[in-house]
Amino acid sequence: MTSYEVSKLFYDMFFSNERTLSLADWLNNSLCEEIGDINLEKDNFKSLYHLEGKYFTPITDGTYKSLYNFIIHHSVHPDDVKIFTELMDPAFLKERQENSKTPNFRFAQFRYRLSNGSWRWVEQCILSGRENGIPDNVYRFYVFDIENMLQKEYGNSLVNDSFIEEEKNALTGVYNERHFFSLAQSIVDNNRDQRICLIKLDIQHFKFFDEWYGREKGNDLLKKIGAILRNHQKENTIAGYLGQDDFCMALPFNMEEIRQIYEEVRNEITSFGFSFGFNPGIGVVIATPDEDITYTFDKATIAASEAKKSSQNRIVVYSPELHTKTDNEFKVISAFMKALQNNQIVFYLQPQCRISTKKIVGAEALTRWIDNDGKVIPPLEFIPVLEKYGFITDLDKYIWDKVAQWLKSQVDKGANVVPVSVNVSQVDIYNIDIVEFFDELIKKYHISPKLLKIEITESSFAEDTDLVISIITALRERGFLVMMDDFGSGYSSLNMLSNINFDVIKLDSSFFKSSNNINEYRKTLNVLGSIINMTKLIAVPIIVEGIERQDQCEFLQNLGVRYIQGYYFYKPMPLEDYEKLMSNSDNVDNSGFVVKRNEQFRIREFLDKNIYSDAMLNNVIGPVAIYSYKNNSVDIVRFNQQFYESVGVEGFHDRLVGIEQFVPDFDRKNLFRLLEEAKKNSLQGSKGSLRFYRPEGSIMTYIMNFWYLGEQEGADRYYGSANNVTDYANLQQQMRLISKYASSSIAFYKRIDGKSVFTLVAHGLESVLNMNKETLQKELSDESFYKRIDNDELMKIKQILDYSVARHEFYSFDFSAKLDDGNYVRLEMKADPILDDPISGYTYVVALRAK
Ligand code: C2E
Ligand code: MG
Ligand code: MG
Repeated sequence: MTSYEVSKLFYDMFFSNERTLSLADWLNNSLCEEIGDINLEKDNFKSLYHLEGKYFTPITDGTYKSLYNFIIHHSVHPDDVKIFTELMDPAFLKERQENSKTPNFRFAQFRYRLSNGSWRWVEQCILSGRENGIPDNVYRFYVFDIENMLQKEYGNSLVNDSFIEEEKNALTGVYNERHFFSLAQSIVDNNRDQRICLIKLDIQHFKFFDEWYGREKGNDLLKKIGAILRNHQKENTIAGYLGQDDFCMALPFNMEEIRQIYEEVRNEITSFGFSFGFNPGIGVVIATPDEDITYTFDKATIAASEAKKSSQNRIVVYSPELHTKTDNEFKVISAFMKALQNNQIVFYLQPQCRISTKKIVGAEALTRWIDNDGKVIPPLEFIPVLEKYGFITDLDKYIWDKVAQWLKSQVDKGANVVPVSVNVSQVDIYNIDIVEFFDELIKKYHISPKLLKIEITESSFAEDTDLVISIITALRERGFLVMMDDFGSGYSSLNMLSNINFDVIKLDSSFFKSSNNINEYRKTLNVLGSIINMTKLIAVPIIVEGIERQDQCEFLQNLGVRYIQGYYFYKPMPLEDYEKLMSNSDNVDNSGFVVKRNEQFRIREFLDKNIYSDAMLNNVIGPVAIYSYKNNSVDIVRFNQQFYESVGVEGFHDRLVGIEQFVPDFDRKNLFRLLEEAKKNSLQGSKGSLRFYRPEGSIMTYIMNFWYLGEQEGADRYYGSANNVTDYANLQQQMRLISKYASSSIAFYKRIDGKSVFTLVAHGLESVLNMNKETLQKELSDESFYKRIDNDELMKIKQILDYSVARHEFYSFDFSAKLDDGNYVRLEMKADPILDDPISGYTYVVALRAK
């Protein structure tokens, strides 16, 4: 039904009545709900009457233009704005008034906003003329509710008019952005006595969801979330969808309800079978009436991003500190970007010295921000913020360029030059192609790559180790020296050291400065000593940073450390000072960083409890154990706390002798192969996945590393780590299978105590089988599904499954299953052992598909 039809209907009704009253009397006596006067000359309006609380329009006295503007933006349905304008536009009204001699009466129908946000058909009339008791230059307006009348005539079709559909998002069934915000605004403004809050809900890593499960599944999930939120809608509670995975709601603040919404959404996601990583995060903000709703919503967004960062606290209520924090951060960033343009960002150089001669072998470029008053701002005050928002790369590219430019100027001047290192942030690695950038840089300034050293912090490896390794390899191939910065700061492990090829390792001793307590200090030195010994394993030179005193220096020298960067020799200094220092050739050592190649790691030291502090074993080198291997039997002879925790198996202490018996047959030869490989390759060691039985028979997957230590008492000794990756391996496997058998029903299958156990992990067949997921799951798990299969075929299936389990071979076969209605359906079963992946070996997949 169009507005024109509404209008016609009303007109017929209005004028078909035989009226004895004047138009004005009739209007004044009718059940109208708003009356007001508009004075065109003074541009003001005055409310004469309004039905309390019904409509959304704020009825106050004021200028007509502001009322008019408010109404067209907030109170009239967007599709009816034109109708309203033609009736009420101030310029238009004025023009009519001036040109008309006779009483001026006009009306129109449109959808008008109720204070609860929904729409209602109304009729608005305007009338002027002294004979109607209305002063000159004034229009009187009347608003009537005509919804019921239209309903009677047209039934529900009007209410369910297409506009209602339109304002809802087709996929999720909740309000789309525009409608959500205007409704939310009216809820907030009209319920000043209540605390109305806005929430933003989004799903972590949703883009992966689409990628892994496909768009259709992704849309399904959005639909279901929409349904959950819709269910919560009631008076003063509305839900909206903003695209992608972003949902929002406005409701009276009630933490219980919000928590319930969170739980419901979470359960919906878990019912897909994979809760891992797709948790919702909710940001909540208490709205302030009269504040622009989109501004309020920004705060909910800030809170939601805080929620997604935390693994426990998935519902975060906005507090001004959150905002101040971001505000301050943005201030830092914009001030920094200005400073960068104004050449207020410079670098200092800190020499790196050979301890024995005190000469300079290299230097590190460290950024400094010189503010307007000439004060030097240290990097820790702005680098973390720049990193957080990705701006660090602008800084780094700038500094790298300046360093290369300066090096070139020194070479051209014929000055003494030693290599200078620059820092690479973890963020740079993901932002730009740093290999290409450095390559271009040395071409641009015609300098040797040997003059630039590249410091990559140890923490960069936390995310994508393979990527970082490939970057390091590429940089080294191009002749750059690559240093691992801040080694020992938290991610260090023996594995890492042996897997990555660095030219130099930098150890930050300030990490180990703990206290003035002499015992603590000794412990610190012990840990330092342990790490230094570890690095000797791979024969890479080491520089220790942060050395301020002579005794520290001597201690390190005794441990065989040769290079130091620290205040003890030099603090970071401006370029002029550095150039002056270098101008004296006595200060310069051009031999670079070297290490005695065959300094051997002393095995006995490693095995001696007294030399290695528990702190080192537990905190520094990650999970490790020492193994003894003799006559095809492997024992664990020592292990640290982290190893114990990482293995995470009950009865660990009873499983130290003969660990090969806990490895399934099909993997045992891999255990021995890894040990042989480690022995052959003593520097690299060996690495691979291995499966172990839990005491109750299920399977765990570990990534294991081994290094060969030597022979002792007739047995080969190894040390190595074990990381339990069972959950990850299972997840990965599930992902792979889902994509492989997309249109089938998939179950994981294993045999426990001679009984089949199926776990349905994905479905697709229910419609063919005429049952729901729960029934199928139940029939599979209690074997009642077998009753649907004829005996001959069933025997065959059981044989094949057993055979497949025993042999770990892939089988595919057809059989018929009887449906509840007595018909048969032909199904194809694929039994797919999943040995190639690091996944619980005994579990394997059964995919059922209709033929
Ligand atoms: P870093 O790369 O580990 O640099 C060494 C830090 O140790 C420098 O701090 C240096 O001044 C300080 N240091 C050296 N010797 C001593 C000592 O004897 N005692 C003490 N207490 N400190 C010493 P700075 O310059 O404040 O830099 C801090 C960190 O900021 C750097 O740690 C580096 O991670 C980062 N950084 C500095 N410049 C840049 C840059 O241009 N780009 C990037 N991405 N990061 C940078
Ligand atoms: Mg550094
Ligand atoms: Mg460092």
